[in-house]
Amino acid sequence: MTDMKRRTFIRATAGAVALGTLGIPGLVLGASRRVVVVGGGVGGCTAAKYLRKLDPSLAVTLIESKPAYTSCFMSNEVLSGDRTLQSLTFGYDGLRRHGVEVVQGTAVGIDPEKKQVQTAAGDTFGYDACVVSPGVGFKWDAIEGYDEKVANALVPHAWYAGPQTQLLRRQIESMPEGGHVIIAAPPNPFKCPPGPYERASQIAMYCKHHKPRAKVTILDAKDAFSKQGLYMEGWRKLYGYGTEDSMIQWISAAAGGAIEELDPSTRTLVGLVEDFQGDVVNIIPPQKAGAIAFAADLVDGDWCPVDKRTFESSRHKGIYVLGDASSAAAMPKSAYAANSQAKVAAAAIVARFQGKEPDDPTFVNTCYSIVGEAFGISVAAVYGFDSHTNTITPIPGSGGVSPANASPEIRKREVSYAHSWFKNVINDMME
Ligand SMILES: Cc1cc2nc3c(=O)[nH]c(=O)nc-3n(C[C@H](O)[C@H](O)[C@H](O)COP(=O)(O)OP(=O)(O)OC[C@H]3O[C@@H](n4cnc5c(N)ncnc54)[C@H](O)[C@@H]3O)c2cc1C
Repeated sequence: MTDMKRRTFIRATAGAVALGTLGIPGLVLGASRRVVVVGGGVGGCTAAKYLRKLDPSLAVTLIESKPAYTSCFMSNEVLSGDRTLQSLTFGYDGLRRHGVEVVQGTAVGIDPEKKQVQTAAGDTFGYDACVVSPGVGFKWDAIEGYDEKVANALVPHAWYAGPQTQLLRRQIESMPEGGHVIIAAPPNPFKCPPGPYERASQIAMYCKHHKPRAKVTILDAKDAFSKQGLYMEGWRKLYGYGTEDSMIQWISAAAGGAIEELDPSTRTLVGLVEDFQGDVVNIIPPQKAGAIAFAADLVDGDWCPVDKRTFESSRHKGIYVLGDASSAAAMPKSAYAANSQAKVAAAAIVARFQGKEPDDPTFVNTCYSIVGEAFGISVAAVYGFDSHTNTITPIPGSGGVSPANASPEIRKREVSYAHSWFKNVINDMME
């Protein structure tokens, strides 16, 4: 037991004794359990907070590589200039106020037998249950000529919000009038299915005002995408989509949109049918679970299989994998999905600590996309769980996409819903 852990244990035990003396039900003296959460993003923060809310006797430690969380959701607005990166960055003091011990460090291994998480700094954290929500990693060998170094310096992916988002914004700002922005969208599954198309819209929104002759081309590794009909409606209304002068062009995989290679010196993308040269190139690489999922033997292929009733790993008992890293279809890889899964996993962990079997869950997801200043669209679903097939499926009639050809008033309202959803989800996960 490290010093840090010993202190946590003593503090949590002291808390349990104090509350136990007051006669609060459900607490057993000296029975404080330890949960270690790896990854302080949406899934990890929500799980840590709700574990403490459900059972304040738990000693919950969150291990996160970075000192603060920068949200990817809403980061496309940085590209239109509507938002700063600062407005997306949040510290962990809110979680500390909930009694979560926040440790800055990188988990490099998990021993499911000894029930220990190891960090790069050499610390070891013992657990009774472990939650892993590390987000995605990138398949750097998928596109020839594209690697982490090129992404940091020249052709940002900006699929984690941070310095690359700012680099992409600077590149768009300094692009000449009439310039060409290319976005290469990845194959399924990937984090935030509507994200590349919202990104194209946000860049077009900026260009419409500042570089009206610019073009934005989406080269897609797929033949269809999330909320496609609604996006195209917005693009037609706002950016001339479907006309010769359209600011946005979408090239499906079947039409030659899948790319194989990048020449970073000329910002040229080599496709199966033709090459594309851009003034600004944004490649969103194919994705897989974050590195710790591989190091901890939690993956089967690219993602982590789970019991979808609890989000416990199918590969190692006592470890719960949430969010983007998990195989949770039909739920998308989204912030709202990670938030919903985290509450289910937290409830399951607490139930099991109390010797009970968790109930069958329901999940929820809503995803807003901002296509123009006053043009928002959304998709929503409530999901049920089928224990016979271990599947999560939308409950019929529970959601759907926002209506086609809605009134300007509805479209405008969806933009304000998007902004208020953002505040609510941040609040729910870490305040
Ligand atoms: C441009 C863009 C727009 C988006 N818009 C939306 C939207 O509008 N709505 C929506 O619902 N979703 C949206 N998303 C998706 C959303 O951001 C993710 O689905 C969500 O963040 C997933 O949560 P997570 O917990 O799985 O991972 P993340 O939130 O990515 O958190 C993972 C955390 O784990 C940490 N970590 C990783 N490995 C380790 C380790 N070994 N040790 C310690 N810490 C580690 C990372 O530093 C990170 O803080 C968007 C994504 C992008 C890229």
